[in-house]
Amino acid sequence: MSRRSSDEEQQQAGISRREVIRTGAAAGVAAALGAGGAASAAAAGPPGGAGPPGQPAGDELTLVNGVIHTMDPDNTIARAVSIRNGRFVAVGAPSPGPGVRVINLHGRTVIPGIIDAHDHIVLVGNRPGWHTGLEHVFTIPDAVAALQARSADVPPGEFITCIGPISARQFEEQRLPNRDELDTVERPVYLQAAQGGTRANSEAATWLAPFGVNVTEAGVVSPVGLALQTLRRELLTPETRKRSAFDALQYFTRFGITTHRDSGAFHADEPAGGIATENTYTMHFPFLALDQEGTMSARLRIDFLHQDSPTADPPLPTLGPRLQNSFTLFGNDWLRTGGIGEFTGGGVNGLRAIARAGWRGEDHALSLGAVTNHIVNRETVHAEIPLTDLRWVLSHIPGFNQDLAGRAHAMGIGVLVGWGPLRTGTNVGPPYRLVFDHPITVGYHSDGGDITVINPWLNFYTMITGRNLSGDHILGDQTLTRWETLWLATAANKWFIWEDDVGSIEVGNHADLAVLDRDFFGVDEEEIRHIESVMTIVGGRIVHDTEEVG
Ligand SMILES: [Zn+2]
Repeated sequence: MSRRSSDEEQQQAGISRREVIRTGAAAGVAAALGAGGAASAAAAGPPGGAGPPGQPAGDELTLVNGVIHTMDPDNTIARAVSIRNGRFVAVGAPSPGPGVRVINLHGRTVIPGIIDAHDHIVLVGNRPGWHTGLEHVFTIPDAVAALQARSADVPPGEFITCIGPISARQFEEQRLPNRDELDTVERPVYLQAAQGGTRANSEAATWLAPFGVNVTEAGVVSPVGLALQTLRRELLTPETRKRSAFDALQYFTRFGITTHRDSGAFHADEPAGGIATENTYTMHFPFLALDQEGTMSARLRIDFLHQDSPTADPPLPTLGPRLQNSFTLFGNDWLRTGGIGEFTGGGVNGLRAIARAGWRGEDHALSLGAVTNHIVNRETVHAEIPLTDLRWVLSHIPGFNQDLAGRAHAMGIGVLVGWGPLRTGTNVGPPYRLVFDHPITVGYHSDGGDITVINPWLNFYTMITGRNLSGDHILGDQTLTRWETLWLATAANKWFIWEDDVGSIEVGNHADLAVLDRDFFGVDEEEIRHIESVMTIVGGRIVHDTEEVG
């Protein structure tokens, strides 16, 4: 029996508190399977005032013969969708006029564009060298081949790098490529993995040596901090940062990510050695430049991370000016500011200042003790300044329980879960099942970019199978179904970016979607990790296309 059947059975069982959604899901599936999708027709027509100005009305696109999981409130599965002026104008019953481009999906699975509600794409977009995504390869030979292919883009002598979203665990060999293997790439190569591990090749070793950085015969780099600081200081310019920012957004469209909510970095005025460190006042500039040029390939939502000491004098030396001199939820459909996070800083007084300003605040929690403290502090502030409507967030929550979920929910706080495929141990959380079945607001995040991977399918694999990328069971009984997982990363994440018109394929919403290379709901569990998008559309623009459809 396929996993798809068991998902549907679970949906139809209606055993959780998502009963309304889930009952709708079962009905949607039944309607689509029984009536050829015709039952899912929605009214056509342009949404009032929507879409980028100046785009010609004839700029219309219709996708037909798909299995389109809309993730709308009824969980309709549609066969066709029409897009005009960057928005969906018909779902289920398109009637393309003359001159409209029609793409035949030949039965492919379509999902709403994935929203990563907390990652570190801005750090990835500021990496030194020609940062090269390696989250789509699973063996050392494939990784080396990807680096060799990348060298075609890179002038001789310039660095090919992968810093952050890469891990030995993703490779069958359970290690990083070594120096000899990287020497087959005819450029200096520097790899720095999430959660430890570095490798460089001989050309990189020669370049780094005058700066006091050593590379062993195996390719291990030391000191790592000095190496990264040197690469940043010597290689980063406004132009190279802009190139990296463009590449970062573009790379993740191949997995269907259409919106990133960036959760900041640790601040340093000058180039530093920490993998999560950047200048938090200037690191957004390359993305702002792309936005001005109109060359962003995914939406970016920006949060501001602050770490003021609770005992600083004067108080809140960085958070105070940020709240006074910045705007929350300000920007456009491609790039917009958000709140404070993933550190708020300043203790309870910091929380008070954020609440008083009417901003969202987010803190991450790495233990049950930490999340308990966060909730106690928020209860103190909530008694003075209601947080109920400010959509505050607690993320990661490896330790969590019913009591804390109830107390957070009572303040209107939502939780973000994900963050799992590189973790080790047993029952290490987050307790996906507990929070999904609880009334608390829940969404999906990868937290990838510096300490883990961003590829959503690697994260979904763990959430669904309970196994990390080494194959170890780490979640106990706290797994989710495929449908539940995808819902968290699409429709549920509307709440976390405070926008209603993304995350589902509905008339009037931004036309963000991904056409998958295989059926997420039908493939073997082991294949989930390998899913990619063959066509990703953001705001009606095709931003990624392998030319396998159409
Ligand atoms: Zn984070």
